[in-house]
Amino acid sequence: MTERFATARAPLLTLLLSVALAAPSVCVPAAQAAATPAKPRAAGPAAPAPRPAGPLSLWSAEQLAEPKDPAQAKAERAMRHLPQPDANAPARTAPVESAPRLPDAWRGIIRRVQLPAGDKRVALTFDLCERAATVAGYDARLVDALRAANAKATFFAGGKWMRSHPERTLQLLADRRFEFGSHSWSHANMEVAPAEFRQRQLDWTAAQYELLEQELDRRLTAKGMPPMGRGPMRLFRLPFGRGGAEVARLLNHNGLAVIQWDVVGEGGHGNAQARAQAIADAVRPGSIVLLHANAVPKDTAEVLRRLLPLLARKGYATATVSELLATGHAQTVPEGFFSFPGDNAIYDDMFAAWGTGERLKPSPKHP
Ligand SMILES: [Zn+2]
Repeated sequence: MTERFATARAPLLTLLLSVALAAPSVCVPAAQAAATPAKPRAAGPAAPAPRPAGPLSLWSAEQLAEPKDPAQAKAERAMRHLPQPDANAPARTAPVESAPRLPDAWRGIIRRVQLPAGDKRVALTFDLCERAATVAGYDARLVDALRAANAKATFFAGGKWMRSHPERTLQLLADRRFEFGSHSWSHANMEVAPAEFRQRQLDWTAAQYELLEQELDRRLTAKGMPPMGRGPMRLFRLPFGRGGAEVARLLNHNGLAVIQWDVVGEGGHGNAQARAQAIADAVRPGSIVLLHANAVPKDTAEVLRRLLPLLARKGYATATVSELLATGHAQTVPEGFFSFPGDNAIYDDMFAAWGTGERLKPSPKHP
């Protein structure tokens, strides 16, 4: 980790707590959405947006992008708290196709990838977290920014998030620049969850992913296009970053590589430009950058829009995590953490009946 992140412990932890717990106030004010002045419109009707190519042509450009209506866009980003935790199982509770055996070189808890000399690629990763008691958002602006820059990315999606965002999941799955990994079903702390509970979190997520993958291939085939044929997910991101050797063994046994990060792309100080610059300064070839795509924090899209040209200027290209792993040597650590070992142990105290990050004690914000 860079000195910058290592010294910003308190603000970072506070931020990550808010990311994990996602206070109901987390949403983007309409005023912010309207903050960018509109360009003067040329006379005559606007030219229709070009139809996306390949599997993305299942949707119009408008359907893929952030909704034009600011209220709709805001609603899509917003987090909803449910009156009761949603413990309903997905329509399929175990995947039909199991993941292949994990290569030995991908075992353990992977923090970054050592690439051959001269290979300047980094992996931008975006978690899509959703707990039992919430329905999380989707930050379409962020995905728009990735597509506009033709950037590659890896999304670690909660199974429950995929179920509550089926169309957005399909759109991401249909984009060959993007890769999917599991983020458990409902953001379980794998370090302290009971064994049976952990396995269900993996199976439900793999099954939900498989259902959507099959739905995508069904739609493509119906249009005369070849199926995506993505196959089972091979990657996993630890909710709260919590997990050690035993958790890694379980995940690896399920065919999943545990992917952490060596650059925390959130937190830090200053405006979006300053934080984008801090990320660009922190990355090295083979770095894995932690970000979120569920609109927590609210301005990640803005940071990303500034980060992508900074990375390009420094000669970096984006890659999926699997692409890095296929070329380089995975560098592992004994346990998961944010910026330094032990900095996420606080999340073990938040393991309650639902096992997915609910607070043990009522708080004024979350009674
Ligand atoms: Zn998460």
